[in-house]
Amino acid sequence: MDPAKRARVEAQVAEWLRYGDDLGLGPFYRDRAASVLSLPGATASSSRPAESPRLTDQTSYPKEGPDMSKARPSLENLVSPVERRTPAASAPSPAPSSVLPIIGVSSLFESVERIDNDSLPRIREDLGDCKRCKLHKGRTKIVFGVGNPKAELVFVGEGPGRDEDLQGEPFVGRAGKLLTQMIEAMSLKREDVYIANVVKCRPPENRLPEKDEIATCSPFLMRQLDVIRPKVICCLGSCSAQTLLQTTQGISKFRGEWFDFRGTKLIATYHPAYLLRNPGAKGEVWKDLQKVMAVLGLKPRKK
Ligand code: URA
Repeated sequence: MDPAKRARVEAQVAEWLRYGDDLGLGPFYRDRAASVLSLPGATASSSRPAESPRLTDQTSYPKEGPDMSKARPSLENLVSPVERRTPAASAPSPAPSSVLPIIGVSSLFESVERIDNDSLPRIREDLGDCKRCKLHKGRTKIVFGVGNPKAELVFVGEGPGRDEDLQGEPFVGRAGKLLTQMIEAMSLKREDVYIANVVKCRPPENRLPEKDEIATCSPFLMRQLDVIRPKVICCLGSCSAQTLLQTTQGISKFRGEWFDFRGTKLIATYHPAYLLRNPGAKGEVWKDLQKVMAVLGLKPRKK
């Protein structure tokens, strides 16, 4: 098959896989060593129709889901998915109606050692002119990450799109402009936060990063997170959330909930590219960001 056609077909298949993921079908068609984990207190998912599938700009297409922020007060429930296996005696009585499939208890990241005296420049140097995975073949620039190395808040997206690939900076395209507005609405500046992606090279045709690409690249993200040690990690979209939480569950099932990620509070919300197509979901994202602001002691920007 000619390579352009093959890439188009692969992008289409990726769309459908993501669509299936958002419907919570992932575990049924993927060969993943998933263990199923009850999330006590989570509400049952509604059966609202799925939203449109993948954007060409970038990334995640979650269907709208129930607002679980109402179902569980956030900080009191700041426990890791693993801890949730055995809820503390004092925990609110569970309503075990939702499951979050977690891939292995000793996840990809829990087993990653922290590196002594690590730093962002050292990570960049180790990355070098990376050719560790096939994504290097189509990239213009590596998109390492940008922002305050001491940021209290780190946003993690999926992977560079066209604009990011050309400029070498994450979130500079249309979705990036929206992310900048979101950051400013939190009364922060882009320079105050750190922005990175799960993969550092643009996937062809903006398809989803593949398993091997994520596995190869995400340890560098991991090191970045370990060095920055933010107060909050905010995952943008399902690729980022599913990678860091090691779950196959659709993001609409757990966005707006707090998780523990190696000692850091982690929350997932919809990707700005999704919001460009579904502006109606902005309210839900704003609710998630307000939770982040509460943790960071921020007030919304005055208009
Ligand atoms: N979408 C992402 O996930 N990351 C970017 O850097 C740009 C768009």
